[in-house]
Amino acid sequence: MNRIDYLRISLVDRCNFRCTYCMPEDADIQYAPSPQLLTPAELLILLRGVFLPLGFTRFRLTGGEPLIHPQVVELVRSIAQWPETQDLSMTTNGFLLAAKAQDLYDAGLRRLNISLDSLEPDIFDRIIGNRGPSRWSAVWDGIQAAYRVGFNPLKLNVVVIPGVNDHEILDLAALTIDRDWHVRFIEFMPIGNHDLFHDRGWINSEDLRQRIRDRWGLATGQVRGNGPADIFQIPGAKGTVGFISQMSECFCDRCNRMRLSADGWLRPCLLNEMGQIDLRSQLRQGIEIEHLREQVKALLDLKPEINYKLRESGTTGLYTRTMSQIGG
Ligand code: SAM
Ligand code: SF4
Repeated sequence: MNRIDYLRISLVDRCNFRCTYCMPEDADIQYAPSPQLLTPAELLILLRGVFLPLGFTRFRLTGGEPLIHPQVVELVRSIAQWPETQDLSMTTNGFLLAAKAQDLYDAGLRRLNISLDSLEPDIFDRIIGNRGPSRWSAVWDGIQAAYRVGFNPLKLNVVVIPGVNDHEILDLAALTIDRDWHVRFIEFMPIGNHDLFHDRGWINSEDLRQRIRDRWGLATGQVRGNGPADIFQIPGAKGTVGFISQMSECFCDRCNRMRLSADGWLRPCLLNEMGQIDLRSQLRQGIEIEHLREQVKALLDLKPEINYKLRESGTTGLYTRTMSQIGG
């Protein structure tokens, strides 16, 4: 049985981008009202009182966009300093990163995943739903700043959408040849924008690998903290290319994670709402932390069964919330 020791924490459900595959501009997204969001103090109480004692040692801060959280640096500093914390990482769209990279590094963050779906500013702006001055350069500057500051490994996430950015696969993969960067191609999931998914469909990771193989050849590779990604390397490249194939492969057997939403719900599974626990309401009602820990422990014990049911049902699950709300 997998040891479940990894928690993905959504710091905010809001975002400064409206990516077409995640929070399309016309979507009626129900954000949690501010009073329903976990405060930094509540989040730290839950981490120290519930998750650390249960053996969680690896944390990823995500969102929504984690860098819009006003106390993101202080939260990083608190979590990074606990002796139990073995790994602390963040997934960000990179727009606010150039100004914050050094502070985040100094606070103890070492690993970053930055979303970069296109190298072409026009296409990038279309994907992120931006009608104003291009935001591509700010994100690119953020990536460069993170690299300079020393984040390692530095991973770039690309959601591949047929007919939108799949013609850039080779250019994106080529970033890894001269740079110690790790580009990860993610299969587009029917979560966030079902219409786009039905219009465009998704591309199987193996098809992408074949395109790269045809151009340069491809060997297996390695990178720290690869989670469910399959890692490869262009021969002689400094970095790696990874593939996250949640549509074409079932990861349930390997799943080692739970997700805590910004409004304090603990979910055992990205695709499934079975068993989720409202930790925030209970904490505010004064329920003893020991009792919350017991509930989470029971959910940990139930998780293999939840994963098994999902796998056996052959369904890709319930998609009633977007990645930004769950903490992708
Ligand atoms: N805002 C940050 C960012 O974009 O990196 C962190 C949150 S975002 C929800 C986390 C990851 O989920 C991103 O890499 C994003 O590309 C991915 N994601 C969102 N919607 C997706 C979808 N429908 N299919 C596949 N990946 C998706
Ligand atoms: Fe925001 Fe990230 Fe979703 Fe894009 S993928 S809308 S940046 S949360």
